[in-house]
Amino acid sequence: RTEDLSPERQSSDNDRALRPQGLDEFIGQAEARANLRVFIESAKRRGEAMDHALFHGPPGLGKTTLAQIMSRELGVNFRMTSGPVLAKAGDLAAILTNLEARDVLFIDEIHRMNPAVEEVLYPAMEDYELDLVIGEGPAARTVRIELQPFTLVGATTRLGLLTTPLRDRFGIPTRLEFYNVDELHQIVTRGARLLGAPADDDGAHEIAKRARGTPRIAGRLLRRVVDFAVVEGDGRVTQAIADRALTRLGVDSLGLDSADRRYMRLMAESYGGGPVGVETLSAALSESRDALEEVIEPYLLQQGLIQRTPRGRMLAAAAWRHLGLDAPRSEQD
Ligand code: ADP
Repeated sequence: RTEDLSPERQSSDNDRALRPQGLDEFIGQAEARANLRVFIESAKRRGEAMDHALFHGPPGLGKTTLAQIMSRELGVNFRMTSGPVLAKAGDLAAILTNLEARDVLFIDEIHRMNPAVEEVLYPAMEDYELDLVIGEGPAARTVRIELQPFTLVGATTRLGLLTTPLRDRFGIPTRLEFYNVDELHQIVTRGARLLGAPADDDGAHEIAKRARGTPRIAGRLLRRVVDFAVVEGDGRVTQAIADRALTRLGVDSLGLDSADRRYMRLMAESYGGGPVGVETLSAALSESRDALEEVIEPYLLQQGLIQRTPRGRMLAAAAWRHLGLDAPRSEQD
């Protein structure tokens, strides 16, 4: 990750304190939640492993949290790993053979799994079987190992990078959406209570509005606002304190941070608002293409600040207004 992404975007293990524990505590994602409730209940009644689930969507929307909640509601163990960590087929085999019946195995960044590891996953997902090659050359032989039935939960920020065979093996594909301000408001209010710094309605609303549709960012911003509330106020999260703290952190009225504004300003000032290709933007900003596509662009797209066209990204009229710049004439029509 490059240092251009502000600290508010980066994850930390502090996330844990604010993590909802049950499906009832999980706010938002109403459709996904209602469906999962049915699938969990059905699996429990039948005494079977729940079908494999794939959560996709931008970082910080609750993929890991939902997977943990699933295991808790199913009453089984939660095991966690990630695509890039599984270097060899044997790494995955070791994890799979240690699963107990109906356990949840969570694989984060599943689009970054090595193809040789992915091959091992197919029969495991389909038939709870493992085909392992033992030895090398002419002496090599395959042994089949039976696994306990288990539930794989995959998470990815890039559905498009998943191979079709892998994607097809998930019975429950679920897309997580950005949260609306009301949902984030509830999340902030709950978080403030847990942190022992109660937020009043306007204070919670101010943070919710500026959290980029993302619970992880709401939590991160809330912690910083609480710092200001403790030091410069009476420990309560008010709108005045929230506004002052967020402005000091460089989070603007739309919740955009310096990385977002740099991206939009580059498009405006150097490319006349586009269209401009993502590779060009990536080079000019010294940001990886992945960081642009996974972290910066989804929210700007959702907010209608940029558009994706076959010829590249375009700055929308709302973005010109937000930057306080005049759009070229064709944009104003
Ligand atoms: P992802 O795996 O999609 O990157 P996480 O599950 O790690 O996201 O969520 C990031 C943080 O946001 C969690 O620590 C949790 O505190 C918070 N969070 C996510 N979804 C919710 C929610 N629906 N309600 C309350 N907090 C949430």
